[in-house]
Amino acid sequence: MASASAAVPVFFPKSPSRGGVLYVHFPSAAEKDVVTLNGSQVPTIPCPPKWGKGVCALTGIAIDGTPDTMELAVDGTKPIAIPVRSKKYPVSPLKVDPAHVDVNPEDKKRMEEERAEVTTLYASSAINPLWKGKFILPGKGGTTSPFGSQRTFNGKVASTHYGLDLRGTEKTWALSSNAGRVVLAKELFNGGNMIIVDHGLGIFTSYSHLSSFAVKRGDLVEKGQRIGHVGSTGRVTGPHLHWAVRIRDLFVDPKEFLEVFNRVWAG
Ligand SMILES: [Zn+2]
Repeated sequence: MASASAAVPVFFPKSPSRGGVLYVHFPSAAEKDVVTLNGSQVPTIPCPPKWGKGVCALTGIAIDGTPDTMELAVDGTKPIAIPVRSKKYPVSPLKVDPAHVDVNPEDKKRMEEERAEVTTLYASSAINPLWKGKFILPGKGGTTSPFGSQRTFNGKVASTHYGLDLRGTEKTWALSSNAGRVVLAKELFNGGNMIIVDHGLGIFTSYSHLSSFAVKRGDLVEKGQRIGHVGSTGRVTGPHLHWAVRIRDLFVDPKEFLEVFNRVWAG
């Protein structure tokens, strides 16, 4: 059992939002101590240099179903309450039910197989951090569609946008947001030419709809490395870079991830 002082965490942001991220630090906890959020264990990750010793954890906050207050604890000590903020995400109603937009059975089967393949990839990550310091935006183009926007049909959410769309053309390079290992570089039905980079400890970034690949599966990439050109492959209407950030089993708002992670890792 950790000492009472081990239970006092420092965390950022003070009130995370649904779809956002939370970085926590128990300065006097020991390496073996277990961090829990709402009773579930959160894997630990290295503490940023400015936070010093102790135990740290990084987690995504689900956009759906997260209660208004989360309980954070270390090694069974009394949990502390963290308020969760609701964020307004843009909603765009659809005229046609997406379930009725024809996808032939062969393509549907392909989509399901690819979804399973990608889910399997996200389930295993390097056991040590491969990232180095802060993450960067993968392109300089402005945002064309934010994370979390929802398409609704008859008042029900038909799909949620789990990435950030950045403007670009087929001459624009997509840059790796940080150092890591390429675990997927392949043409998919929905995502088109897609790259997934594993940054270690369950942190992944993905780059979709590319027109070219400059890396292949297994390659180690550096932060800022040119990994492919922006494009319009897959199920899209025009060229853009769909960039997604995933922490273990959750896609999170890439902009919030950058804000929180980079603030914490700033010198
Ligand atoms: Zn997108």
